[in-house]
Amino acid sequence: MRLRNIPGSREAIAENPWCIPEECHPKGKWHDIFKNDHPIQIEIGMGKGRFILELARQNPDINYVGIEKYSSVLVRGLQKMEETPLENIRFIRMDAETICEMFGEHEVDRIYLNFSDPWPKDRHAKRRLTSREFFRRYDHILKTDGRVEFKTDNSSLFDFSLEEVKEAGWRLDGFTRNLHHDPLMNEGNVMTEYEERFSAMGNPIHKLIASR
Ligand code: SAM
Repeated sequence: MRLRNIPGSREAIAENPWCIPEECHPKGKWHDIFKNDHPIQIEIGMGKGRFILELARQNPDINYVGIEKYSSVLVRGLQKMEETPLENIRFIRMDAETICEMFGEHEVDRIYLNFSDPWPKDRHAKRRLTSREFFRRYDHILKTDGRVEFKTDNSSLFDFSLEEVKEAGWRLDGFTRNLHHDPLMNEGNVMTEYEERFSAMGNPIHKLIASR
């Protein structure tokens, strides 16, 4: 993600009614925030939000929470949202390392990770969103029958993630190394910004689904 500081993005986020500030302590209260008991699905590292906004548009009976570390990126998603407001989506600007402070035990039905940062140096492996450390956090916030869905074009990160699913004691429900040529796994696929860009360059898209 090319990061350009957008002046005023922090202020725009603080004032935006769809953005839930960390200080709001929404943990365990998401159904009150959405004012319904629909399932809650989250995307960690939503970037400019194309994927999660499209899911929210297609599925009005599911609640979505988009999580993004950088204000300058998140603000782009908020701009798109203002063009077509949706009731079933909220956003948080945060580092996912503290995700267990924002969601209660078993509060989340599904976690999407799309084109997550690879952190190629071994000493940074713990920062990868598919590391065993993150699976431990997901284990806490995900419902017992919940699942994690991960897409990337980075084969090293994908190999690492397959190993980490096993190391974390999770089950691999499905995987493919060429999503767009796998009719079953690709059914209903919603493309992300990075997915569109990398598949246009000819990179095969990998996907895995994990549960416990
Ligand atoms: N998911 C989008 C897509 O597929 O088009 C964006 C992919 S981009 C490569 C990765 C995004 O994840 C960036 O916007 C980055 O800021 C965000 N990100 C990386 N690590 C994160 C973390 N620990 N917590 C929250 N967001 C994170």
